[in-house]
Amino acid sequence: MHDEPIDPFTGDPADPSAGLDDPVEDGDLGPLTEVERQDVLEDLADLEVYQALLAPNGVRGLVIECEDCREPHYFDWALLRGNLRHLLDSGRPRVHEPAYDPDPDHYVTWEYARGYADGVHDTLSDSEED
Ligand SMILES: [Zn+2]
Repeated sequence: MHDEPIDPFTGDPADPSAGLDDPVEDGDLGPLTEVERQDVLEDLADLEVYQALLAPNGVRGLVIECEDCREPHYFDWALLRGNLRHLLDSGRPRVHEPAYDPDPDHYVTWEYARGYADGVHDTLSDSEED
């Protein structure tokens, strides 16, 4: 299964953890607006793609430049997912819990991850044309 090339635009609706322990149901969207919620859900989907593509290369997570601290925070994949889910549930970000003792070499920016995913998609498209 995992040896096949990954289509970055295919989600994984079969994620066994999806829908579990989700107190947010219809009628109670929490403090986030529908648009904000959608953004967070898209970030979560992007995160799945980035982790699938980058984790095999040794990337452990993403680095985010914090506007409050004016220094980079390092988040591993699980922490990023936890933070986004927390944001969905509570409407409040939880950005000041960076990974413990991170190695900066193992973290990339959202922009890098997005560019990498786009590049992989282009490569897959090109090879299909040959
Ligand atoms: Zn900070």
